[in-house]
Amino acid sequence: MGIRFDERQIYNMQVSRLKDLNKRLAKLFENSRDKTLSELLKYRASITRGGIIRASKEERLIELIKNINREIADLTGKSYRAIQNDFIKAYESTYYSEAWAIEKSVNLELGLSASYSLNMPALNEKAIQAAFDKRIGGLLLKDRTNRTKTTLQYLVQEAVGQNIIEGQTIKQMDRNLKYINKAMNAGFKNTQRIARTEVLKAYSIGQEEATIEAERSGVQFNYIWSAALDNKTRPDHAAVDQTEAILDKDGNPSWVVGGVRMSSPRIPVAETGGSAEAAQVINCRCRRLNLPFGIKPTSRTAKTKEGQWVEVNGDLTAKEWIKKEYGK
Ligand SMILES: [Zn+2]
Repeated sequence: MGIRFDERQIYNMQVSRLKDLNKRLAKLFENSRDKTLSELLKYRASITRGGIIRASKEERLIELIKNINREIADLTGKSYRAIQNDFIKAYESTYYSEAWAIEKSVNLELGLSASYSLNMPALNEKAIQAAFDKRIGGLLLKDRTNRTKTTLQYLVQEAVGQNIIEGQTIKQMDRNLKYINKAMNAGFKNTQRIARTEVLKAYSIGQEEATIEAERSGVQFNYIWSAALDNKTRPDHAAVDQTEAILDKDGNPSWVVGGVRMSSPRIPVAETGGSAEAAQVINCRCRRLNLPFGIKPTSRTAKTKEGQWVEVNGDLTAKEWIKKEYGK
């Protein structure tokens, strides 16, 4: 059945986009780490040359810190733009692919000779900006990358500091280089998490927008929460797996997930911020199934203990699978 296959494909398309984005981010962090190291080595060389007076040494240290801070600001700026760019691509491609999938399933339902065409408006700047401005835990992407920048500047400065303690041998200094790697790795992990959350958020918003437009054209949907069937799924998300959305008086779907009202995975309705909201959003891998005419998928995929994805009955819930397969 088309819709099931297509909607899973759309999600997978964004997951593979993420893999590619992560590779590019890793490259950015690697370059930045190398630049930081070369700044440090330049500094070391300049002060071990001998005959350096104290005032000049301090100036060089200030210069070093300034260069490192600039490098980190540059890195987080580039990461921000890379994530923003992929956010927009994920949003647009989900919107159009979802529209196409809905159209296809409407035609399937209507019969072979049908050529029903949905009136889907093209996405404009304003819609993209509105999607981009949706907050997670009260924070915009800009806020989150700013936080990363400040933390990373602090960590790298500290790591560099370890390397310029007076009286250290070159061997001790080299051992201390691992602190710079550690600081950069922490920054990269954090950025990866932000990228994942943003791109999958864009996917959810693109899906929501396409569905809203299709509803305006008269298509009716059933909405079902679909959690990932593996042992990493949060209990709160396993609890709503396979449940239908509650509709408000205007027909807008939502679920209450761990006390937070959400219109889709990763999309809190109230956007009030706070850690409860962020805790339900970050690293979530759930999907919302938008089912025209309420046709439910007959199968879904689940991960076995051995790490293999297998097809299981479409009615199986996350709770049932996790209990059966993982004994939790
Ligand atoms: Zn989830």
